[in-house]
Amino acid sequence: MVKIEKLHKSYVTGANSLHVLKGIDVEIERGEMVSIMGSSGSGKSTLLNIIGILDSYDSGAYYLDGELIKNMSEAKAAVHRNRTLGFVFQQFNLISFKNALENVALPLYYQKVSRKKRNIIAMEYLDKMGLRDWAHHMPNELSGGQKQRIAIARSLISKPKVILADEPTGALDTTTSYEVMDILKEIHQEGITVIIVTHEHDIAEMTSRIIRLKDGLIESNVKNGKAKQLQHV
Ligand code: ADP
Ligand code: MG
Repeated sequence: MVKIEKLHKSYVTGANSLHVLKGIDVEIERGEMVSIMGSSGSGKSTLLNIIGILDSYDSGAYYLDGELIKNMSEAKAAVHRNRTLGFVFQQFNLISFKNALENVALPLYYQKVSRKKRNIIAMEYLDKMGLRDWAHHMPNELSGGQKQRIAIARSLISKPKVILADEPTGALDTTTSYEVMDILKEIHQEGITVIIVTHEHDIAEMTSRIIRLKDGLIESNVKNGKAKQLQHV
């Protein structure tokens, strides 16, 4: 689903250049649930943003579902971001002046689905997240866990092939974190590829492969047998 070869990325600010990714090789199969770990500043978000076509890279190659993603037009990148990819962020990124239902429905608005139809579909996704009764509440009336479930519903509504989650439990307490991870596991079991950036070991342990970044390179990339057992509990 995701194939990355000899990928390099530097950030240039004025006269300074920071070489963040120094030759990354990694492949993620369709339907896998993997975590990307590494200390703060190791390039986890940079790598995830490149996978999400939110950022470009300097050299190497990135294939998404078999298609080379390089020098892509903004219009084409937007189509992938709206149709192939779903995003979940640490700070939820909900629109504060829209209610839960409208937030979930937003991707369908961009796809020009009628208000009536997108609200019906959004309600189904809210229901799936156990949030039907919260549809007309504003984000500031919701707990962190509820906000993240709304963000997950929003990421799923356009039926993506890949969910990219950058520290999705980073702003949540342990119990709520595990609830969010249970939802991400269910999504994975429905066949969607799930890629989670985290620096929390217990979160990474719930995924079936752990990729560790260090000094711009992949330090380790190992299957996690324990996660498989957990999924069948
Ligand atoms: P992580 O998510 O692992 O904490 P990041 O990928 O966010 O790491 O950042 C890797 C390095 O790149 C850090 O040193 C960070 O300061 C730097 N960096 C990230 N984004 C930018 C940017 N837009 N411009 C310049 N430097 C950046
Ligand atoms: Mg980060």
